[in-house]
Amino acid sequence: MKKLLFGMAAVVASAAITLTGAAQVEAAEKKVRWKLAMTWPSTLTPLASPAPKLAKMVSDMTDGNFVIKVDGKEKHKAALGILDMVKGGQYEMGHSASYYWKGKNITTTLFTTAPFMMTAAELGSWLYYAGGMELMQKTYDQYGVYAFPGGNTGVQMGGWFRKEIKTVDDLKGLKMRIPGIAGEVFAKLGVTVTNIPAGELYTSLDRGTIDALEWVGPAMDIKMGFHKVAPYYYTGWHEPASDMQFLINKKKFDRLPPKFQAVLKTAMQAVSADMYFENFGMSAEAWSKMKTEFPNIKVKTFPPEVLKAMKKATDDVMESYAAENAEFKAVYNSQKAFMEKGREWSK
Ligand code: CA
Repeated sequence: MKKLLFGMAAVVASAAITLTGAAQVEAAEKKVRWKLAMTWPSTLTPLASPAPKLAKMVSDMTDGNFVIKVDGKEKHKAALGILDMVKGGQYEMGHSASYYWKGKNITTTLFTTAPFMMTAAELGSWLYYAGGMELMQKTYDQYGVYAFPGGNTGVQMGGWFRKEIKTVDDLKGLKMRIPGIAGEVFAKLGVTVTNIPAGELYTSLDRGTIDALEWVGPAMDIKMGFHKVAPYYYTGWHEPASDMQFLINKKKFDRLPPKFQAVLKTAMQAVSADMYFENFGMSAEAWSKMKTEFPNIKVKTFPPEVLKAMKKATDDVMESYAAENAEFKAVYNSQKAFMEKGREWSK
């Protein structure tokens, strides 16, 4: 009996040898566990939508062998520290908006949006089909991370104001939360500009720490309750199409099996497109109900004189960065050249 068992063991062992090829493939797909940090609290859809959807897709497409755990801001408490955490390797991935790294590198702002610049279709086409992603990567190479498009909000509203803005003088002395290059433009027009994370926006407005703020659009803004304090709701000029990014630690990505790299890239592009459509739908829904459900909201467009001053200040800010910064100039010129063609077609 013992002999027979040993004999069977030998048969099983030889069968295993013939499986070596397949087993090697399996070994290459050993389980990978990553963590991803979002700038947003987990409940802040649609900004918080792409990362969890990505994690599910990646797990499904790898039979559960590539698992990405998503942490919202409530977990890591560093909404504006995503680039540093991915660079340092505490998180393999992040999901955020490039213009939050303005203090490190002004060029990063252009990969999110800039006043009077591209629409979502124009920016997406520039990124995927006109060399934009290569330019974005050149900038992010300096931080040891890969950057990929991570979803677009489309045009954002110009923000909530306590008082109506009738002239450029009405902007003077205003304290406003407005990030990116738009903040510098407003600063030139006399506004005191700050950036405040999502969780503190309503309190800051309510307590008078700020007089005005911009956030995203009706779907996200109305939920925050800004209209209760600042009922003048202005149409957009400063964020014609704000792109989010997935950031990935380069060393970690380079060590992934090629199949997992391909899965990750495919899933990032899919959830990026998905966020744009999700946000468009949510905005359309919220806008259609706004007049009846929140009759105190006064939708306004900045007067032509004010818009003209904003455009002039924007051109001054952009040109002065381009004059002193070759990296900024290369990206800005590439975007402007693409816009000249793209805008004619958009019209
Ligand atoms: Ca915004």
